[in-house]
Amino acid sequence: MQRRSSAVVIVLTAWVGASACGCVNHDDRLNGGNDRIAAPLGTISIYQLAGRLDLSVDENSSTMATLTSPDNVVVIYSDPSGAAYVNGSAVIGTGPIWPVGDMLFVSESMESDIGSLLVKRTIAEPLGRIEPLPSDVPSHPNRSCIVIDAGHGGKDPGALSVIGIQEKDVVLDAAMAVAGSLRAGGQKAVMTRSDDTFVELNERANIANRVGARAFVSIHADSCHNPSADGYTIYVARSASSGSLALASAIERQLASTGAASRGVRRANYRVLVRTTCPAVLVELGYLSNVYEARRLSQSGYRRGLAKAITEGIIEYCRETGR
Ligand code: ZN
Repeated sequence: MQRRSSAVVIVLTAWVGASACGCVNHDDRLNGGNDRIAAPLGTISIYQLAGRLDLSVDENSSTMATLTSPDNVVVIYSDPSGAAYVNGSAVIGTGPIWPVGDMLFVSESMESDIGSLLVKRTIAEPLGRIEPLPSDVPSHPNRSCIVIDAGHGGKDPGALSVIGIQEKDVVLDAAMAVAGSLRAGGQKAVMTRSDDTFVELNERANIANRVGARAFVSIHADSCHNPSADGYTIYVARSASSGSLALASAIERQLASTGAASRGVRRANYRVLVRTTCPAVLVELGYLSNVYEARRLSQSGYRRGLAKAITEGIIEYCRETGR
C-alpha cells in the first residue's frame, strides 16, 4: 500500500543566525577562492540528510529542496525564512538552513527531527528478509565483483571540514585506492564513480544490483557538532544480512589494526545499504569536523592506510565466505 501526503502547512521558523547545535560558525572558504561562507560544523547537506533517511532528492537549489519517498514529502527552505515541513507539518527548531553554493546544509539534528515525523510503513518490507551468505547463493558470473562506492561527488560535496577539504574528495581518493588494490590482487572491482561526478543514491545501489555484486562497500567521512568526536564507523542496515555483518566485522578488524579510533559497527538504514541486494556496508573514515582527524584525512598516506585496511577486510571476508 502506498500513500502520498497532501496538504503542506507552512509555519516559519525563526532565523537565529547561529547553529542550533551550538558550534561556532566558521568562515573557512571552500576551494580557496570561493567567497561564499561555508556551512558551520555539525551541518549536513540535503543529500546526506536524504541518504540517512532513505529519501530521494527531487528538487535541489540554493533556496529550497524537496525530499521524497513513496510515503513522505519533505520540503526545506533556506534562511532567512528557513523552514522545513514533513507531510505538511512544520519541523520545530530546525536551526539555520544554509545555502553553500547551490546546496542546502542543515543542522544534523534535523535527521532525528524529520525522521520522527516520517510515515513509517507498517506492512512487511523487503528490509526484513535475511539474505544468504554469498557462498550459499548459486554461482553467478559477476558474483566475484566488489562494488566500491565513493560517497557524494559533483554538486554534492558531502561533509565540509574546517581545514578546507571536502568529503567527496577524501572519499574518492580512498575508494580509488581500495578498488585499485582489489584489482591488483586479482579481484573484480567496479566503482560507482571514479571522478568528481554526482551519482544518485538509488543508482549507486542499482549498479551493485545490476552487476550481481558479491559485496558493496560505500566510503564516506563523518561530520558532527561535537568537534572532539573522532574515529571510523562501519554501518550496516538495521536488518542487515549475515553477509553484511560478516563483511562489517572483517573490515572493522582490519581498521582496528591501523590504530585509528573505532566507533564500531553500527546500524542505520542508509539508502545505499537498504537498496542493495548483496551484503553491504558503509564505512565512515573519520570526522572532518575534528581538526586533528581532518588533518590526518587530508594526508594521502593516512588515507592509503585506511584504504589498505578496508581492502584487506574485503579480502578476508571473501576468504571466509568461500572464494
Ligand atoms: Zn557522506
